[in-house]
Amino acid sequence: MKIKEVKAYVIKAPLEEPFSFSQGWVYNRSSVIVEVVCQDGESGFGECLCHGMQPPEVAAAFIENCYAQYMIGRDIFDVEVMWEQLYNIARPFGQQGAAVNALSGVDIALWDAIGKHLGKPVSKLLGGNFRESVKAYATGFYRKKGRRYPDDAIEEAKGYIKKGFRGMKLKTGFGVDTDIEYIKAVREAVGYDVMLMADFNSAYSQAEARRLLLALEPEKLEFYEELLAPEDIAGYKAIRNLTGSYIAAGEEIFGKIAFKDWLAEGALDIYQPDLCSSGGFTECKKIAAICQAYNTMLIPHVWGSGVGLAASLQFIATLPSTPLRDKPQEMLVEYDQSSHPFRLDLINDGVRFTDGYVEVPTAPGIGVEVNRSVLEKYCVNK
Ligand code: CA
Repeated sequence: MKIKEVKAYVIKAPLEEPFSFSQGWVYNRSSVIVEVVCQDGESGFGECLCHGMQPPEVAAAFIENCYAQYMIGRDIFDVEVMWEQLYNIARPFGQQGAAVNALSGVDIALWDAIGKHLGKPVSKLLGGNFRESVKAYATGFYRKKGRRYPDDAIEEAKGYIKKGFRGMKLKTGFGVDTDIEYIKAVREAVGYDVMLMADFNSAYSQAEARRLLLALEPEKLEFYEELLAPEDIAGYKAIRNLTGSYIAAGEEIFGKIAFKDWLAEGALDIYQPDLCSSGGFTECKKIAAICQAYNTMLIPHVWGSGVGLAASLQFIATLPSTPLRDKPQEMLVEYDQSSHPFRLDLINDGVRFTDGYVEVPTAPGIGVEVNRSVLEKYCVNK
């Protein structure tokens, strides 16, 4: 099946109530939705992750000005061949960041087109499902103007428990002493049965991280995410054994070659590539294989729209627990609960959350349909 057209929709929606995290304020939810149109008129959709402060136009420009021209007229089934060629073409000015971020959305769209063409969900095309549903943890706890912390965070945590979540991730990185006090207060309020994590968005130095980890050891967090700068392999390696909790990072690591360096150094306990940023299905399956070879956990980062969420569920379904055993470490999906004007509207509410678990969509491709009127409503470049 040949490719007729590759489209990159830049979509943006202003937040009614902007929110902040350790690196600054978020005023919009944005994304790049990729559409690969085939010659028979069928389309596949993918997404390039857009971080809170990331301009979506950069990844879209990569697709429109670089990748698309090499894809027109090609067979969608040559998806891995195209991945390697596009990555290689962009090597002198790419290798990571928006170059791989853009390639991820293209790859997901190709796999969606393949799945829709064959009438199979992507998980089945990648080797099958280890699980039909995935335990979800809530990502939220962004800071908003005029609120009081930790009081408002405790209210938010209780709301997630009421919704059925048994795990949640705090937003931290606002100062070591502030974070320690905040995490202790939330832990005391929710108890030890709730799986509690904290994401620092690269706020700290090695020395600050050490102070924090030692002070918080009694709080038994499941994992600490992005304590340090995303390039600091040596720093992560140095702090990794200061805590019984897991040390996690990886949403800002791109491609198998970069992940290989981290794994070879033994720098992290949990790797968190984002399917929509670290390389799409083609590359992230290889990253997962490298993690498995190092007997190390992979729990993907997920922060996109419903397109990225559905695609991530397809990917997560195919991941073996590392290591396998009768009752293995349960796989998790990050389920972002922060404000997002089009997260589920864009996929016609096609992802089901019940009693703390999200079902892996079983329809062909990524398992959901994109709502074109929602796409057009928020699109700013077509
Ligand atoms: Ca994060």
